[in-house]
Amino acid sequence: MNFTNLPQLVDMRGKLKSNGTYSKRTKAITHRVWHHSLTKKNLAGSDAASFAAYHVGTLGWPGCGYALVIEPKNIISTPNGKRARIVYANDYDRRTYHVGNSNQFSLGICVAGDYRYDTMDEATLASIAELHAALVKDGIGQYDKAHNEMPGYSWKACCEYNYREAFDWKGSKTPSKPAPAPDVYTIQEGDTLWSIAHKDGADGVQVEDLIKANPGIDPSKLKIGQKINFGNAKEVIVQPDKNKEDAKPSVSGDETIRSIQKTLNSRYATGLVVDGIKGSKTKTALIKALQTELNKQFNKKLVVDGKWGAKTKAAIVTLEKGAKGNLTWILQAALYTEGYNPGSLDSIFGKGTESVLEKFQKAKKITADKKAGKASFAELFAA
Ligand SMILES: [Zn+2]
Repeated sequence: MNFTNLPQLVDMRGKLKSNGTYSKRTKAITHRVWHHSLTKKNLAGSDAASFAAYHVGTLGWPGCGYALVIEPKNIISTPNGKRARIVYANDYDRRTYHVGNSNQFSLGICVAGDYRYDTMDEATLASIAELHAALVKDGIGQYDKAHNEMPGYSWKACCEYNYREAFDWKGSKTPSKPAPAPDVYTIQEGDTLWSIAHKDGADGVQVEDLIKANPGIDPSKLKIGQKINFGNAKEVIVQPDKNKEDAKPSVSGDETIRSIQKTLNSRYATGLVVDGIKGSKTKTALIKALQTELNKQFNKKLVVDGKWGAKTKAAIVTLEKGAKGNLTWILQAALYTEGYNPGSLDSIFGKGTESVLEKFQKAKKITADKKAGKASFAELFAA
């Protein structure tokens, strides 16, 4: 094989995290599908081992979703010059998860990096060009496609580098960016609402938004081929659930606590009884949510046990005004359960959140810097 003889290639088949094996392809490879990882290329999590850990540990897949991973942060000196390392992660005859229904005939190649922001360096361009040429010589695949050129993925921001220009790399040009894309998503093999919502990283949507934008869809029973309205989900703002059912006086507890419990259940599968009463189980579920997000967004590798301990504290990232997303929601929910109502649980760290955080910090006699860091989370979560 020409590609396995590339001096920058390391064979890590069978050495990365796995849980079972991907089945053998039932169709010949016709497509080479190019991805990027949406993880900044220089960060610790931007390599094949981390993708395997995420795909297995978080998404529950059998192994790393790609056959080949190019790692810009691992530069190898070769007789041809400096090259980004290429990890051979899964045998090319295995049908890994990376393009849903097209997995059977598609070879998944991921260039680590978030090319919405990262620029591609020469060593990486060279590895793309050489890997591509070798695969062509080996007769592995006939067509090259970006992830978002495959059926059902037109909405995806992947791969965000111009792979065709990269193939022609001769040591100068920086590839330009292809156009962005639209909005209906078709459920593919290996998908969960959670994985769909999170594949897009910071610009992705939240599971709860997907559920709200798609009332006819049962998230526990996704069918391949089902259409998900992805665009509307981007417009949904997460608010405490105020439907009529919940407004009835016969319903127990606090309405916002119920909405927190529902969100924890849908987003993190925490299995809480939705009773609107804050208790130790809700707190444990919030800590699990926090650990899950720290792992997913910052690759912290925490055990998701719902216990506030030294490792979780050390992993805390500081949130301040302007932050938005699931971590901010967790902060807002935790403040609310402690009796500090940020106004709405909208996942956006705005004035309301800042002002109740400051009150909370003063009440707990910690530095009132209006930033939620280790000290504030410790006050919120330590038993
Ligand atoms: Zn992709």
